[in-house]
Amino acid sequence: MPADTLACAHWEPPVACASCGACCREAFDAVPVEEGDPTPEHHPELVMGEPGAWREIRRVPSPTGCGTRCAALNGDGSVTSPFHCAIYAHRATACRELEPGSPNCHLARVRTNLSPPTHTSVAGPRSAH
Ligand code: SF4
Ligand code: SF4
Repeated sequence: MPADTLACAHWEPPVACASCGACCREAFDAVPVEEGDPTPEHHPELVMGEPGAWREIRRVPSPTGCGTRCAALNGDGSVTSPFHCAIYAHRATACRELEPGSPNCHLARVRTNLSPPTHTSVAGPRSAH
């Protein structure tokens, strides 16, 4: 292929969670905790709600001043302080199912203005950085 061949305008390099963190911060308003998830047993201080009812992981105000983020998210996305989950081994099912590069990953990145929206994006940007 010639070097000057035009590529897809929506192409992106592989995502890097350490500098992104979108799905753990402003992209979503809540991280649900399901029955059987290990989070309540190992980190009860991070779980809001009662067994048998809606439960979610506690959130804290975002340092950006826009929305909230998961209380278990550490770091600021910089090289010296990458984003990382403080309860990774005991995170919720919703966290385990959201894989890098998946449609929900893309949605989170679109909502935080890290990726451009495409025709498959189901919602536009929600926060300005
Ligand atoms: S899974 Fe996707 S949205 Fe979540 S931190 Fe990684 S790259 Fe960002
Ligand atoms: S529990 Fe961990 S993986 Fe799940 S949203 Fe919070 S920081 Fe992200």
